[in-house]
Amino acid sequence: MKKTTGMDRAKTSNWRPATRAVRGGTWRSEHGETSEALFLSSGYTYDDAQTVADRFAGEAEGMTYSRLQNPTVAMLEERIALMEGAQACRAQASGMAAMTAALLCQLSTGDHVVAARAAFGSCRWLVDNLLPRFGIETTVIDSAVNEQWDAAIRPNTKVFFFETPANPTLDVVDLHYVCGLAKSRGITTVVDNAFATSALQRPLEFGADVVAYSATKLMDGQGRVLAGAVCGSEEWMNEVLLPFQRNTGPNISPFNAWVVLKGLETLGLRAHKQSENALELGRYVEARVPRILHPGLPSHPRHKLALSQMDAVGPIFAFDVQSRAKAFAILDALELIDISNNIGDARSLMCHPASTTHASMSEEARAEMGVTEGLLRINVGLEDVQDLIEDMDQALKAAGF
Ligand SMILES: *Cc1c(COP(=O)(O)O)cnc(C)c1O
Repeated sequence: MKKTTGMDRAKTSNWRPATRAVRGGTWRSEHGETSEALFLSSGYTYDDAQTVADRFAGEAEGMTYSRLQNPTVAMLEERIALMEGAQACRAQASGMAAMTAALLCQLSTGDHVVAARAAFGSCRWLVDNLLPRFGIETTVIDSAVNEQWDAAIRPNTKVFFFETPANPTLDVVDLHYVCGLAKSRGITTVVDNAFATSALQRPLEFGADVVAYSATKLMDGQGRVLAGAVCGSEEWMNEVLLPFQRNTGPNISPFNAWVVLKGLETLGLRAHKQSENALELGRYVEARVPRILHPGLPSHPRHKLALSQMDAVGPIFAFDVQSRAKAFAILDALELIDISNNIGDARSLMCHPASTTHASMSEEARAEMGVTEGLLRINVGLEDVQDLIEDMDQALKAAGF
């Protein structure tokens, strides 16, 4: 008898998380390969004309064109869905393709969106620039104040959009409260879960409707490919996202999907070990600098909330060293940690958000969001934390801390 493949949802949904991460979505060809096959094919052939007619009519299963389905991409989607506890997932070309699709697929002129002010720069660009161009109203709020979510709701509010923890200020949103509020008012919640991933936080368990990802970050985890994903209910996927995605084509390449599939096998291990390293390095940095933003430390205003909704708080934190000059002095003195604006990588990477990831925003928007001139953000990797502490020590000293 054939062994269960990772595509059999009735069986795989009983698997525990670690098993899902390694085997979920595996769909073996007749060769019985152990590692998932890479199907670099844009099209498909058919034994007879009726077969393809049935597939196009939706009456038979099977591939027709890689903008619609691809076996390697389907394996990635099934694995991400299983890990997220979602009924369905669709992979995307990048995190921003995922965010754009998750918003535009369900919004129309006259709708209103409430979004968190602390967000990845391009996510803020969607909210501040792209959506208003199509007559979609947006309100940006302090996502860490529950009452602001209530106060921002209008009769035409269709979507809540936020990250938690947020990039780069590590604001934490109360998932239970905000998702519950949205549900009670018929609003769809779209959560950008890039900083945590399903290994550390599963927003659907708190009542979120849609979880969207940059899989470029922790899911790949080794800084190799751009990738994204959108998770939700089967019904939402089929009726809302799929018509948009299939006709606009923000598809991931099968090669990139294959790389992320490999990354998912070790996601849990990496996310937990990097979180541990980030906590240890964070405690060290906290004693040396004026201000740190780290949800794993009691000094974070929502430390307890973060611990209650996350299994571990993730590899990223930020700290403020008062001026751009001091921030640059620290970056320039680093010997091991790289200057890089990427995150989720197994390597430790540090950047100055005000001059990089958030440089395209207005100064007022940056100030309102808490992206100060002295803010540095670090992604803590898998190196020995003692080496990271020593590098940070000499860099802080070089900048006079
Ligand atoms: C990186 C990032 C994105 C964008 O993802 P890309 O894969 O770079 O397109 C969106 N949201 C958050 C929180 C991110 O960190």
